[in-house]
Amino acid sequence: METLFTKIINKEIPADIIFEDDLSLVFKDINPQAPTHLLIIPKKPIPKLSDASEEDKELLGHLMWVAGEVARDLGLDETFRLVTNNGAKAGQSVFHLHLHLLSGRPLQWPPG
Ligand code: 5GP
Repeated sequence: METLFTKIINKEIPADIIFEDDLSLVFKDINPQAPTHLLIIPKKPIPKLSDASEEDKELLGHLMWVAGEVARDLGLDETFRLVTNNGAKAGQSVFHLHLHLLSGRPLQWPPG
């Protein structure tokens, strides 16, 4: 099912894009929860992490690699958190797999 992230991938709605390659897109969250709040998404529309299949293993690794690359490029001082909300009860609101990258303020643990 198409979500608004598909529209962002297809440039049908605007987003502040930080990075793009054949497999992934990174853009700023519209409602940031930290001074830096990015969303790292696959272009393939996987609804959530638990829907990924074995054939997606490389793609999932790629997303993690992109997260590290972007953090390095932005000089985040090696201090950031990656989160994926899997399912509505875990706080997921957009059903296109995404990693949240949060940085720029102290981050509490455990998260809420
Ligand atoms: P979730 O709640 O599914 O883990 O995260 C979805 C995220 O997408 C939220 O942090 C929300 O602020 C962000 N978001 C929702 N709609 C848009 C949009 O149109 N543009 C951007 N850049 N982010 C969005």
